[in-house]
Amino acid sequence: MHRPFNFSAGPATLPQDVLMQAREELLNWQGTGVSVMEMSHRSPEFLHICAQAEHSLRTLLSVPDDFHILFVQAGATAQNAMIPLNIGRAGVIDVAVTGHWSQQSYHEAQRYARQVNLACSGAGTGFTDIPAPAQWQLSGQASYLHLCSNETVHGVEFQQLPDLRALGCDTPLVIDCSSHIAARPLDWSRIGLAYAGAQKNLGPAGLSVVIVRDALLGHALPACPSAFNYRLLADSHSLYSTPPTWSIYMAGLVFDWIARQQDSGLHGLAAVEARNIRQASWLYQAIDASGLYENRVNPAVRSRMNVPFFLTDESLNDAFVSGARARGLLQLNGHKITGGMRASLYNAMTDAGVQALIQYLQDFEQQHSRQASVQQVLA
Ligand code: PMP
Repeated sequence: MHRPFNFSAGPATLPQDVLMQAREELLNWQGTGVSVMEMSHRSPEFLHICAQAEHSLRTLLSVPDDFHILFVQAGATAQNAMIPLNIGRAGVIDVAVTGHWSQQSYHEAQRYARQVNLACSGAGTGFTDIPAPAQWQLSGQASYLHLCSNETVHGVEFQQLPDLRALGCDTPLVIDCSSHIAARPLDWSRIGLAYAGAQKNLGPAGLSVVIVRDALLGHALPACPSAFNYRLLADSHSLYSTPPTWSIYMAGLVFDWIARQQDSGLHGLAAVEARNIRQASWLYQAIDASGLYENRVNPAVRSRMNVPFFLTDESLNDAFVSGARARGLLQLNGHKITGGMRASLYNAMTDAGVQALIQYLQDFEQQHSRQASVQQVLA
């Protein structure tokens, strides 16, 4: 079946093989006669699905044994509250603000901490660059430093995580990796807690994955809701209350799909990463080579996953989006706070999808410059 190419930032395109497998199993999961949606979360079948998903993710991301993997109800925004309630007992939080999502985290942290320290801000560059970690102002007494390792709206990505210890600071690092989890390896030696909403690279909405070092748990603030207490979730293998069972099942299928991927002689996560690097570099090259499109992000920190771009003639925006839709290229509008366009190239995006987008960029530009020269002749 030929489906359109979906460039949504999330909820986002999922691998077609996964959707087909879910369709196949929808009414009758592996001969049980019931759908995963209809199973008790305490049934042996669901316990197996949940444990398997956890195991697959641990293997895929090489998560060390002293980290728990938690499947948590609600999205990434909720973690901006859950994290300070669970691991913020010092009442001081450092936040690196490098775009829209870390700015949200910065504001939300103020509801739960006595002091929230702005470690750095990319606002001065319009969030087109990431301030060098050596220049960050670290308070030295924070419970943790929060950063967003891939800013979905502004399209800036940490190509490597800061080494806080090398900066003379043993503050645990908390990363929001919602929009590039499972697209590249994570350096666990630098991480205290990593979290991600599922609805970009992992599966349907309604689920967050929280991967947290055991040593950080056990000191939740009294106000922390039990349903979101990471210690209780870890001890119950994410089954303290009913988890988003369908989203966990789907995420498990996605993890196994990633593990099966082959590309350029590589397999699993490395294959997916190689594909992402290739697709993003094709698209950035096409944008940089054109006179009609521009990406304003410093090339050293450009995101492989979310490529924002602007038309130099913004009066063409509507025509661009509707022409794209007519070609089966969906959801290219930028986020409402930035305007412009954005193409998200999550793991499920195919080379053919990126090639079709680039062809469209070129055709639209050519058509526009022809129209512009006709208008000049007529003027
Ligand atoms: N962080 C990042 C990096 C995101 O991209 C998003 C969603 N686009 C969020 C947080 C918020 O996620 P949710 O809507 O699941 O709360």
